[in-house]
Amino acid sequence: MTLIEHWIGGKAHPNGTERTGPVFDPARGVQQHEVVLAGEAEIEAAVAAAKAAFPAWRDTSIAKRSQVLFAFRELLNARKDELAAILTSEHGKVLSDAAGEIARGLEVVEFATGFPHLLKGEFTENASTGVDVYSLRQPLGVVGIISPFNFPAMVPMWFFPIALAAGNTVVLKPSEKDPSAANWIAALLKEAGLPDGAFNVLHGDKVAVDGLLNHPDVKSISFVGSTPIAKYIYETASRNGKRVQALGGAKNHMLVLPDADLDLTADAAVNAGFGSAGERCMAISVVVAVEPVADDLIAKITERMAGLKVGDGRRSCDMGPLITGEHRDKVGSYIDLAVEDGADVVVDGRGVEVDGEADGFWLGPTLVDKVPVTSRVYTDEIFGPVLSVVRVASYEDGVDLINSSPYGNGTAIFTNDGGAARRFQNEVEVGMIGINVPIPVPVSYYSFGGWKNSLFGDTKAYGPDAFHFFTRQKAVTSRWLDPSHGGINLGFPQTTH
Ligand code: NAD
Repeated sequence: MTLIEHWIGGKAHPNGTERTGPVFDPARGVQQHEVVLAGEAEIEAAVAAAKAAFPAWRDTSIAKRSQVLFAFRELLNARKDELAAILTSEHGKVLSDAAGEIARGLEVVEFATGFPHLLKGEFTENASTGVDVYSLRQPLGVVGIISPFNFPAMVPMWFFPIALAAGNTVVLKPSEKDPSAANWIAALLKEAGLPDGAFNVLHGDKVAVDGLLNHPDVKSISFVGSTPIAKYIYETASRNGKRVQALGGAKNHMLVLPDADLDLTADAAVNAGFGSAGERCMAISVVVAVEPVADDLIAKITERMAGLKVGDGRRSCDMGPLITGEHRDKVGSYIDLAVEDGADVVVDGRGVEVDGEADGFWLGPTLVDKVPVTSRVYTDEIFGPVLSVVRVASYEDGVDLINSSPYGNGTAIFTNDGGAARRFQNEVEVGMIGINVPIPVPVSYYSFGGWKNSLFGDTKAYGPDAFHFFTRQKAVTSRWLDPSHGGINLGFPQTTH
C-alpha cells in the first residue's frame, strides 16, 4: 500500500504525525493507499514554503509566468490519460468521464494563459493638471484552496491556474478521499517550470483546513464542498480577515414543460442524473414535470435507464461506483425513506448487476416518482444516482418550487417555447441556467457559481471573477513636480485645479 505524502517546496514532504486516512479503489471496494493527515508542523511548513516563494514569483515577469502556464497546458494535454487513470482508480468515475473532467480543467488553464490582458490596470492622464491616476492589480500572497472529492482535478484547476497567473503562491488541501491527483498535478507544474514552493499540496482533514483558515499568512480561501462546511469556512475565514469564496452543495431541478421534446428531455435527464453516479454538484437530482407530461417522460427515462451499464470505470461502462461504502449506504437509505414517505420507487438501483468486483461500492441508477416536497428525499442533497420526479400543475408552480429551494446552483428548463425559456431565465433564483442544456457549467471565460446556499461570498470561480478574487487593486495618483506646483494650500485636493 503506498503512502501519499504532502508536496511542499517542490518535493514530497514527510508527515510529522502518525495520522493517516484510507484511500479506496471504489470499484473493487478495497483500500489501495494511505494518505497522510497533516498536523501543525506540516501546515506551517506548507504555508512557509508558499510564503517564501511568493516574492520571487510575484516579481517574475508576466512573459515568464505565462510560459509556465503554456508549458503546463502542453504537458497536461500530452499526459492526460495518466491523470484520468488516477481519477478513475480513486474516485471511481468511468474513464471517459474522467477525461471530460480534465478537459474542463484544461479550459481554465487555457483561459489563464491569456492573463496578461486581464491583469491590466487603467490609466487616466491629466486627471488634474499634470496629475495622472492609474490602477494596478497585484497578487494577494499565499492563497488556500480546499477541494471536494468529486472533481479531484477539475475543481483545483478552477482556481490555481488563475491564482498562479496573477502572481500568488498556493497551498492546495485536496479531498482526503482521492488525494493522488493533486500530487500528480504538483509534479507536472514543477516540470513545467514552476518554482519550488509556488504550489504546495497539504493533505489532511479538518485539522489541515482549520490550520489554513486560522493562519495569518494565508490571505484567501477558495473552498468547494458541502453546504454546512462551506458556511463554516466562509464564516471562519471572514472572521479572520481573509478574502473567501465558498461554493456549497446543490439540489438542481430540471423543469419540463408540456411542449418539450420528450425524447431529448429523457436523454438529458438520464445523462445529467446518473453521469458520475450523480456525484456532481451540477447533476440534475429533481425532474419537475409540468402535467400532463410526467407519465410519458417517466416511461422514456425508465426505458433509457434499462440500457445503462454499471461497473468498473476501467471497463466500458456508463456509470461507476460511489466514492465509499459508507456513502453508498447513505445514498441507498434514501430509497427506503422514499418508500416510507409514500413516493413510488420506479427503478430501484439496489442489487444492480455490475461489470465489476462484487465488493465495489455499487448502487444502480434509481428513479423515484411522486416525491413529496416535504420528504428528505426532496429536501436533502443526496449526491448519488437517485433521480426524483415531482409533478406540478403549471410553469408557475414549477418556478415557485425551484425558487423555494435553499440551494441555487444550477437549473434547466426543457421546452420549445422561447418566450417561456426567456421568462424562466429572468425569474428563476439560481446562478447557472440551462435552456435545453441539463448541465450548464459555464465555459472558462464566464464564471462558475450558484446563488443562496450554493455559494457563500460574492465572487464566483474562474473566468473574470477569478482575476478579481486573486488580485488586489491599487490606485496611484502621480505628479512629476514642476515649479507651477509650488505654494501652500491646505484645502482638500480637487481635480478641477
Ligand atoms: P465536503 O464538504 O465533505 O469536503 C470538502 C472539503 O472540506 C474536503 O477537502 C474535506 O477534507 C474538507 N472537510 C470535510 N469536513 C470538514 C470539516 N468538518 N471541517 C473542515 N473541513 C472539512 O464535500 P465532499 O463530500 O468532498 O464533496 C461533495 C460536496 O461538494 C457536495 O455537497 C457537492 O455539491 C459539493 N460540490 C459543490 C460544487 C460547487 O461548485 N458548488 C462543486 C463540487 C462539489
